[in-house]
Amino acid sequence: MKFIDVSSQYQAYKKEIDLAVHRVLDSGQFILGQEVVELEASLAEYVGAERGIGVSSGTDGLLLALMALDVLPGDEIITTPFTFIATAEAIALLGARPVFVDIDPVTCNMDVGLLEETVRALRAAGSRLRGVIPVGLYGQCADMDEIERIAGEWGLFVLEDACQSFGAVYRGRRSCAFGSAGVTSFFPSKPLGGYGDGGMVFTSDARMADRICSLRVHGQVAQYSHRWIGVNGRLDAIQAAVLRAKFPHFPEELLRRERAAGIYTERIRARLPEVAPPAVREDRSCVFAQYTVRVPADLREGMVDFLKERGIPTAVHYPAPLHLQQAFTFLGYGPGAFPRAEQASLEVLSLPMHPFLEPPDQERIVETMKEAVETLVVR
Ligand SMILES: *Cc1c(COP(=O)(O)O)cnc(C)c1O
Repeated sequence: MKFIDVSSQYQAYKKEIDLAVHRVLDSGQFILGQEVVELEASLAEYVGAERGIGVSSGTDGLLLALMALDVLPGDEIITTPFTFIATAEAIALLGARPVFVDIDPVTCNMDVGLLEETVRALRAAGSRLRGVIPVGLYGQCADMDEIERIAGEWGLFVLEDACQSFGAVYRGRRSCAFGSAGVTSFFPSKPLGGYGDGGMVFTSDARMADRICSLRVHGQVAQYSHRWIGVNGRLDAIQAAVLRAKFPHFPEELLRRERAAGIYTERIRARLPEVAPPAVREDRSCVFAQYTVRVPADLREGMVDFLKERGIPTAVHYPAPLHLQQAFTFLGYGPGAFPRAEQASLEVLSLPMHPFLEPPDQERIVETMKEAVETLVVR
């Protein structure tokens, strides 16, 4: 059994993908070019943004968006401590300071009540607070309307880290279309994954889009004419071609993911009172980049081993919140600073999830978890 099954997906669309890759090999255009332009147009239309800019990864997309927003050393940017490190890393790479706000314990996304308190306190203290980066963790948007409202009141930008939530809908709008810009990732295991690194920045701000287009090619405005210090942050044509071949299947894949999540949740509710299935708010959808449950902290390690011994792979997203990572000790946070994120990091467990998951496998996973609970609790 696989945690994320990229090979079944390739077999299912093999003909289209092989044709697309060979089209690029025949063209001799390997970086940017027409494949990327076409992908940018169709994904921007899908999410409801004016522009899409293909970039080398989700991480580089975040970095490029922050560069285009003129983030400077000493600026402060609020984000969540319970995310993949790239979210806060992009802030720190520019010499700006990530300020964390604890999570809503139900969705594991940024808590907007705490966001408002933190913004007020920082502004009162004279902080150079510039913006907020909410993350659509596990595939479900954060409370984007409230976040946009708070940001609007205080003159802050919103940059959505949609690396896990591409395709998710929130109150009739799609992830990636909020705030100043949204960034997604095409890392192979993401909901819309390529066969290598890649990402896209979406924005409806033409000035920002042009700036990112330039920054991803060393700040170039014409060949060998550089207006800004940029990076090498371009999307490869082969990745764009693979994604163009896969994208027509994406809506169907989201339905399959939702169906698989529904089966898990129904089985867990029926069989496993000790385990909490993920909660999806009524006003939004989840693309289930991960299907992540909460198990009692003292059972998690035993559960992981028990499942592993029986051929069921799992993952922990994430075993340590960012404020407790060694790389961020310079921020000066200690244990206890964000208790909800810390608690979540002890309890979360991601189960196998992909569009080709079969109900009998899901049944076996839940039954094996049941056995694990019985064995571990008695012991
Ligand atoms: C995957 C991910 C990223 C980084 O994307 P890459 O394409 O791997 O650089 C950033 N933020 C979150 C929340 C992610 O899940």
